[in-house]
Amino acid sequence: MSVRAGILVTGTEVITARITDRNGPWISQRLGELGIEVAHILTVADRPEDLEAGLAFMAGEGCELIVTSGGLGPTADDLTAEIVARFAGVGMSLDEDMERKIARILAAFARRLRFDPEALRVANRKQAMVPDGAETIDPAGTAPGLVLAIDGGPTVIVLPGPPRELHAMWEPALATTGAQAVLERAEAYLGQTVRLFGIPESEIAKTLREIEADVELAQLEITTCLRRGELEVDIRHRPGAEQAREALVAGIVERHGRFVFSTDGTTIDEQVGELLRDRRRIALAESCTAGQLAARLAEPPGASSYLAGGIVAYSNEAKVELLRVPPALIEEHGAVSPEVAAAMADGAIARFGADLGVGITGIAGPDGGTEEKPVGYVCVCVKVGDGPMIARDPVIPGERVEIKDRSCTLALHLLRRLLRGEEFPL
Ligand code: ATP
Ligand code: MG
Repeated sequence: MSVRAGILVTGTEVITARITDRNGPWISQRLGELGIEVAHILTVADRPEDLEAGLAFMAGEGCELIVTSGGLGPTADDLTAEIVARFAGVGMSLDEDMERKIARILAAFARRLRFDPEALRVANRKQAMVPDGAETIDPAGTAPGLVLAIDGGPTVIVLPGPPRELHAMWEPALATTGAQAVLERAEAYLGQTVRLFGIPESEIAKTLREIEADVELAQLEITTCLRRGELEVDIRHRPGAEQAREALVAGIVERHGRFVFSTDGTTIDEQVGELLRDRRRIALAESCTAGQLAARLAEPPGASSYLAGGIVAYSNEAKVELLRVPPALIEEHGAVSPEVAAAMADGAIARFGADLGVGITGIAGPDGGTEEKPVGYVCVCVKVGDGPMIARDPVIPGERVEIKDRSCTLALHLLRRLLRGEEFPL
């Protein structure tokens, strides 16, 4: 027994790709954690017919829960509450309590920004119109959320578009009577994610076939995907299939142990951050990745305990002047070469007085490749002061964005190996 849900993301700016949808994936993850089966994520423009068609489609597909994002603001293109009421066949009434709450929020804005009080009053009133029978969720911005259990149909949770507001209103939305009635019917999934690096997807497909001979895999939902150059095996199941999951994970580790870097959900970025934290300071010298590795290492809060800094040395002059790469080395081996990557790592360590350094130089394309050094040829060197180092120079497949991204992923894996004192299989 699983509860099926649909997510309706509204917004012309999302449809036209002026902004990237952050709400659909976020809601989908939260619902997944609650054991709810997300069947559809549908994006529609701010047009009443399209919104209504979206609701009708998902209800018709058997979704017992529909979560909408966006279109709760004060402007004319903000229609969601009205359309949900129409779809449910109920009227709308002014919620005076809510009107007062919104008025208080707006009064603070108005004082600061000197808004026209009349326009504000109209806007306020529009946002306080609530479909009959809906529960309301207090605004995190100015728009209240709604939860409406439709008679003989789905329960609809209506949330605002700005992600910060939507996140803040999620827990209160789940606490409503309408949402609880649906959640009660959902049974949580259990699961585990195994992450591997340096192994093709076909190997895992083969492994799954082998393991299937001994283990009943039908109780498990296994999804394999390639993500940022890593292979991720996601295993989901209902309570009772723990043994099958454990046998599967053990089977993967047994066959591909040296490629497995995570069975506990942690990412490579998190692991490297933990290996460095409060212990070692790292400095970066990046050419083709132009600071992306620095950005990834700086992502976790508290990164200042290990990230000394980085230099984006795109030009040869920058490599020579900022990182003290000998010009003769560039002349002899080329700017994209293992020798220069190593010299860049040395330069970064020296510049920042760090314990370890990374040098990355490569050809991200689409132009600039040669027969000897094609597009995707990347040299990565990670080293500890004058101690051990690990270097690789693969040809990374993909387009420019992927080449840059995977160069960083490769550097992170080399760092992990170096920090754990392991050699790297490739
Ligand atoms: P507002 O009162 O701010 O108008 P709203 O509920 O009407 O809130 P929208 O008008 O749909 O929401 O969106 C407002 C802004 O929130 C968008 O311009 C965008 O910046 C952000 N936003 C909306 N939907 C999304 C989304 N799916 N992903 C990321 N950002 C979003
Ligand atoms: Mg809006």
